[in-house]
Amino acid sequence: EPLIGVLAMQGAVREHVAMLAEAGARAKPVRRAAELSEVDGLVLPGGESTTMSRLLESFELLEPLRARIAGGLPAFGSCAGMILLARQTLDGRPDQQQLGGLDVVVRRNAFGRQVDSFEADLDFAGVEGDVRAVFIRAPWVEKAGDGVEVLATVSGVPGVAEDTARIVAVRQGAVLATAFHPELTPDVRVHRLFVDLVRKAA
Ligand code: GLN
Repeated sequence: EPLIGVLAMQGAVREHVAMLAEAGARAKPVRRAAELSEVDGLVLPGGESTTMSRLLESFELLEPLRARIAGGLPAFGSCAGMILLARQTLDGRPDQQQLGGLDVVVRRNAFGRQVDSFEADLDFAGVEGDVRAVFIRAPWVEKAGDGVEVLATVSGVPGVAEDTARIVAVRQGAVLATAFHPELTPDVRVHRLFVDLVRKAA
């Protein structure tokens, strides 16, 4: 079984650990560079992307994490985690750090300031049937490079007209990202996709 870390700066760390275990991986929180060096894959939970990048700096994880991602570490970012994995953030704070790994430009708080959260049923490539998606001050992907596979889009939700589709889930190699929070529903299938990516990369 692969060992998958959950970056434990902020966010639903316990929920991700539980989902990964249910999806067939060993999982543990990661707070130090030594722990990061042991894992076969890493989940970056939601939270607040600027705060997370500040915490990464103070835990001296920013550069080690950049290096591991550049070296091909499989990673799964949800919400603020997606923002961190992007190459660029629009509407980010000035001290927002990017880890790279995904050739995408994301827009932070994209669905509108007044919108705290909403839920939607999505088609998700590689998952049969609907995926219930919980969005909390979520970003969307504004631009995706040629090497990026779009896994899910939304339309007809707050801030998005019925005839417009916004990208909310992507994959590039072994890096997966969702604008929503699969760890907040009982559905383990998105985590299972990630565990499969980690297994294939091993
Ligand atoms: N709005 C947050 C940010 O900009 C992301 C919210 C989340 O992770 N649920 O980082």
